[in-house]
Formats: sequence, C-alpha cells, structure tokens
Amino acid sequence: MPPTPYAYFKKQIVPLAEAKISVMTHALNYGTAVFEGIRGNWNEEEGQIYLFRMPEHYARLRRSCRILRSDFPYSDEELYSITTKLVEMSGYSEDIYVRPLVYKSSEALGVRLHNLEDDFLIFVAPFGPYLDVDEGARCCTSSWRRVEDTGIPARAKMTGIYVNSALAKTEAQLNGFDEAIMLNEDGHVSEGSGENIFIVCDGVLVTPPQSSNILVGITRETVVTLAADLGIAVIERNIDRSELYTCDECFMTGTAAHVTPVVEVDHRPVGTGKPGPITRQLMQLYFDVIRGKNPKYAHWCLPCYSKVKTS
Ligand code: PMP
Repeated sequence: MPPTPYAYFKKQIVPLAEAKISVMTHALNYGTAVFEGIRGNWNEEEGQIYLFRMPEHYARLRRSCRILRSDFPYSDEELYSITTKLVEMSGYSEDIYVRPLVYKSSEALGVRLHNLEDDFLIFVAPFGPYLDVDEGARCCTSSWRRVEDTGIPARAKMTGIYVNSALAKTEAQLNGFDEAIMLNEDGHVSEGSGENIFIVCDGVLVTPPQSSNILVGITRETVVTLAADLGIAVIERNIDRSELYTCDECFMTGTAAHVTPVVEVDHRPVGTGKPGPITRQLMQLYFDVIRGKNPKYAHWCLPCYSKVKTS
C-alpha cells in the first residue's frame, strides 16, 4: 500500500485532501492559532516510526493555548491515541512531521482573542532534513530583531509570530546564507528562525536563557540532558553577537533542524570552519536517541506501527 496522508479535522480522521477551512476563518486572517511540530523518525532496521517526545510537545501546546486563550478540551490520552493512529494510517516509511494546530475557527471579522470558537486539527507530512546537518549551516545575523515578550510572546508557538521568522529566513537565504540568527532588542543573541542556538566556549555549552525571547525548544532541552550524560557543562546566559565570532563551536537545535552545526557566521568561520568535536559528539548521541536506538532514552520515543513495516 502506498502511503496515504490523513488529517484529524473537525473531530474525525479524514483523507488530507478533504481537510479544508473557510476563507473567513479567524486564524487565517489574523494569525490566531498555536501549533506544534513533532518529528516521527523512521527506523529502517525495525520498520518503525518513533514519535519523539510527543508528550512534551503537547504540554507546550497547552501552554501556548493559555497565552492565546484557546479552548483545547482534549485529554493527553486522546491526543496520543489520535496522533499515533493518524501516523499509522498514513503509512510512511520515511521521516515525517506531525503538525497539531489549535486555531480560532470562527468565521468572524474583528481582531481579538475572546468570543471565538477554537478547533483542533493534526496533519502528517513526509519531512526530510531541513538544514545540512553534515556540512553545517552558514548563518548571518539578521537585520530583523526577535519579537519581544512585551510584543508577541515567543514562548508561545503561534502562527502569527512566524512572520518574524519568515522575514529573517528569507532575508538570509536571498543574501546567500542558510539560516538567520536573530538578536533581541537589547542586542543579545536570541535564536534562529526556527531553531535555538548553542555556542561552545572552552568546552562549556552556552545557550540563551528562556527570557531571551526564545521558543523554549524541546530539542534544546534534549541536548542539555544529553550533554550532562557526556559530562559536558551547560550554562544559560546572555550571549553577545561578537561571541558568535569568537566561540570554538556553534550549533542550532530544533525539531526540523535536529542538531545542525553552524560553520560560518557573518562570513567568519566558526572555530575551524568545520563541525567541532563537541557538536559531533552530541549529534552522534542525538541521532541514535531519536530513532529509538538508545535504550536509556527509549521513553522519549513512541512507536506508531503495531506491525513492522517494510519500506
Ligand atoms: N525556535 C523557534 C522559533 C522554532 O520555530 C523552533 C522549532 N519548533 C525552535 C526554536 C526549536 O524548538 P523545538 O526543539 O521544540 O522544535
């Protein structure tokens, strides 16, 4: 059977092609939706797709809902069961991306968050590498600043906020870079357009704190945990732009980007200009963990196929 994409839409699982919304949907017009991106990682030897840290993604979605005043009347058990069923029915034998979205579904004009209906959908799509994890990414400091918590809170994964990321990403790519690094209004490093950022200085991992207008990444937390296993110290503190030029190593983390080395920033090589040893050590552990190959972290990986699948 070839893979067939399905969606969860208006409380039912339907073929993806049938999941359509009205042009008047509030979320489409005003960016009033919150969402998640969960990776399903294909394990070739086992014929299995493992969803990576799904409970943590749904927990973040609930926090985003609180900020957007979205009604999300689903239990964890319902969410986990709908999601795994959708992945199993879609039947992919490759890496996939699962996109849950809670959106203001009223067909209504008028900017606000209150007195609107909310609905919930999920879709599944095949999703290969996002940045070049082997060669690493060439980045620039964006001329666009990260939105402040006092403007649009970045800890909520809201659709509307992604205009900030899209401005930065397009500027970077049209200028010949792979990815943008955004600064906060105070000039400190915040994050990439869809990734958190780490630098390595004298063997220590450094990453901006939650108060740096970052999306508090699940891959970020994964890397912090794996670093502890490898005996690598991690500190959260503000990072200056110029530290991106002087650090020994730099990498980005994200569900889409995995752990991607940053090999150049603003036309200056990072360290040797090649992925550094600490980055490579973390990547090796990370890629085993996400495909369900590391027993210690098996609890982060949820298998979706009840029967082994052949590719
Ligand atoms: N920052 C932004 C702006 C993002 O879009 C993402 C991707 N979700 C991340 C950071 C990384 O978060 P996570 O590791 O949970 O995917």
